[in-house]
Amino acid sequence: MGLGIMMKVGEDIYEELVEAAREDAPLEACGILAGVDGVVEKFYRMTNSDASAEHYTMVPEEQFAAVKDMRELGLTMLAVWHSHPATPARMSEEDIKLAYMPETIYAILSLENPAEPVLKGFEVVDGEANEVEVETGNRQ
Ligand SMILES: [Zn+2]
Repeated sequence: MGLGIMMKVGEDIYEELVEAAREDAPLEACGILAGVDGVVEKFYRMTNSDASAEHYTMVPEEQFAAVKDMRELGLTMLAVWHSHPATPARMSEEDIKLAYMPETIYAILSLENPAEPVLKGFEVVDGEANEVEVETGNRQ
């Protein structure tokens, strides 16, 4: 399970991710998850400027705006998120190649089974993707 990093995604944020993925399908949706101490508090939805079903690129201006907002709210970037509209929640070779940010979780929401979305998180160390724990739902 990697270095013991984990991430908690509450029901509201989880629903936002599913909604974004469904809206953008068959293209990949993308965005940034920010929060405190591994708990996601905000989802910044980004435009996939690739407009592709197999890869994504975030729009730099949107990223800058998100980073500025995070700073104002005292949030940290926890994960880079994207959807896989038709494939499993696994890091593709290209996903791994483009995962150049250390200490960042790469989260993928799969709509392979449209009725049952799957959210997984990975960290990439030395070109290898290791799954990290992602807790979803509201636990008190
Ligand atoms: Zn991918």
